[in-house]
Amino acid sequence: MVTRRIAEILRNGQPDEPATIQGWVRTKRELKEFTFVEVNDGSSMANLQVVLNPDLPAYEEYLKKLNTGASVEVIGSLVASPAKGQRIELTASEIKVYGEADPETYPLQKKRHSFEFLRTIGHLRARTNTLGAVFRVRNACATAIHEFFQERGFLWVHTPIITGSDCEGAGEMFSVTGLNLKQIPRTDQQEVDYSQDFFGKPAYLTVSGQLEAEVMAMAFSDVYTFGPTFRAENSNTSRHLAEFWMVEPEMAFCDLEGNMDLAEAFLKHIFKSVLENCPEDMEFFNQRIDNSVLATADNIINNQFERITYTDAIALLEKADRQFEYPATWGVDLQSEHERYLAEELFKKPTIVTDYPVGIKAFYMRLNDDEKTVRAMDVLAPKIGEIIGGSQREERLDILERRIQAQGMNPEELWWYLDLRRYGTVPHAGFGLGFERLVQFMTGMGNIRDVIPFPRAPLSIEF
Ligand code: ATP
Ligand code: MN
Repeated sequence: MVTRRIAEILRNGQPDEPATIQGWVRTKRELKEFTFVEVNDGSSMANLQVVLNPDLPAYEEYLKKLNTGASVEVIGSLVASPAKGQRIELTASEIKVYGEADPETYPLQKKRHSFEFLRTIGHLRARTNTLGAVFRVRNACATAIHEFFQERGFLWVHTPIITGSDCEGAGEMFSVTGLNLKQIPRTDQQEVDYSQDFFGKPAYLTVSGQLEAEVMAMAFSDVYTFGPTFRAENSNTSRHLAEFWMVEPEMAFCDLEGNMDLAEAFLKHIFKSVLENCPEDMEFFNQRIDNSVLATADNIINNQFERITYTDAIALLEKADRQFEYPATWGVDLQSEHERYLAEELFKKPTIVTDYPVGIKAFYMRLNDDEKTVRAMDVLAPKIGEIIGGSQREERLDILERRIQAQGMNPEELWWYLDLRRYGTVPHAGFGLGFERLVQFMTGMGNIRDVIPFPRAPLSIEF
């Protein structure tokens, strides 16, 4: 008989239907007349309740084996459940225990564990209610992202993970080398001789796929990347990882307005789709993790985002009736406390800040006529701060060359990027969404390390 997924049984199962399930025991309750075993197979937050009657062959033996964490197959028939909160349960006629889990040593017992503790058992934590819900929602977010772009004719392009350009400008980079670190070849000047390295020059893990996405947008008009990016930032925050996933749409023939419109429609679509596809998990987050999660989702879906220039935002921050740790003055980058003040307290909804000072933004952002600001945009979310960073790109060759030089970079190394402005240049724009920040935002999870299955952060690479 085909195995059925538990989510499907809980949704569609009818009394008297035969059913086979496979999964892991969450709890066992022994009563006088029979035993209840809750089984979970990851398809839903809810378990399927399995009823074992004492007339089951080897009943007593099974009772010893069916501890929390054990893996089982149960064959039986569905019955309407007399218990509250569940429609249907499974009366077992046959059981197979694939693997036992010793209750003396299995670390996931039936109590609440802290997220810190769960991070020390990264190989088992996906079996908990919360992490299970997180990874189902993460999957639903990814699906919604592809859905959104594919419906609009965007091409999904795969940009490289190893890159030769160290000037993507987004953050500290990890080096990639094939050199033997015990015997590093040196030049006469005692510098590392990269000509003997794998690529013949220094190589890094990418911090962003943007520059390559621009290449592809200049051929396919609308493209997006969705892949891992890496930053060697030694910051132990609850919002930074060393390895995280980024979604980067890039659109030819598009300005900052179009970019903002897309970012807003994009976030709205993802929230709608996740609420539709993971209602139980979202309900769980609202009850157990952050009781504003559903209201926030509703706020995103139904309200227009606030749009404000950096200059106006600074004016509001200067007027704010509170002391910031870092005072906000024109020319400095917005700190997380400023971002949260704007989105969380002042506007109480996602807020798009545009036209940042040229001095604090990357070289490729389009210079405004005032020559003081660039067509940048950050989407700030309540509780999280920056969730999206983007811009209209500088499409004018001369200005772009000037900006590259002004930042102390060598235009020759970016010759291919500049060629895009030499041959068939067009106004274009795009943004980057930190995928884990989105999942955090969606679920209310406080620490970014708990929304990715295997977090990479300073001193954290065990699993
Ligand atoms: P922040 O100021 O929060 O460090 P950033 O300015 O470095 O962000 P960008 O370079 O614009 O961020 O990257 C695009 C998006 O990637 C950000 O809006 C954010 O959602 C996400 N992001 C950036 N750095 C990280 C990180 N270390 N871990 C997880 N997500 C990140
Ligand atoms: Mn950063």
